[in-house]
Amino acid sequence: MPSSPAHSPFVDVSHCHSLNLIVEGEGLMGEAGKAASCLYGGIRYEIIGSIHHVRFCHCTNRRKFSGTSHSAWGLIETTQLLIERSETAVSLYKAGNGFRAFCGNCGSPLWYEPTMSPQYRGIPLGIIHSDAGVPAPEMHVWTRSKVAWEPILDNLPPHEAHP
Ligand SMILES: [Zn+2]
Repeated sequence: MPSSPAHSPFVDVSHCHSLNLIVEGEGLMGEAGKAASCLYGGIRYEIIGSIHHVRFCHCTNRRKFSGTSHSAWGLIETTQLLIERSETAVSLYKAGNGFRAFCGNCGSPLWYEPTMSPQYRGIPLGIIHSDAGVPAPEMHVWTRSKVAWEPILDNLPPHEAHP
């Protein structure tokens, strides 16, 4: 079994499977909640509480997962993610040190489940409906995997790997 270092482009991606989520948190739309959904809206969840460790990530896994040069992600506690609608199975794909959850129907990224820190979920910020309560990214990470064709034009601190 080859080793699977974090954020290597040669990670073990052989454990693709699907997971049906039970709809929970119905009617829990709180004032502080932030709604997020996949592209067609069949999977919708609410984030209760604050998002932290917000950054632009340039790692190969997130580039592939998002289809873009880099993507904006943050962390929440797992208990702060409440599934409100689940008309479609959530698919989980193992890559790197965790599972990437995406809509089994439209393919939108939904969240990241780090195997070593199951108390946290990584959240792709672009699927959150409103900007309210979403902090601005504080840094760039994994710039050693960055594409050459898009320069970093802001003044946020770049980190070659995970700081
Ligand atoms: Zn979807």
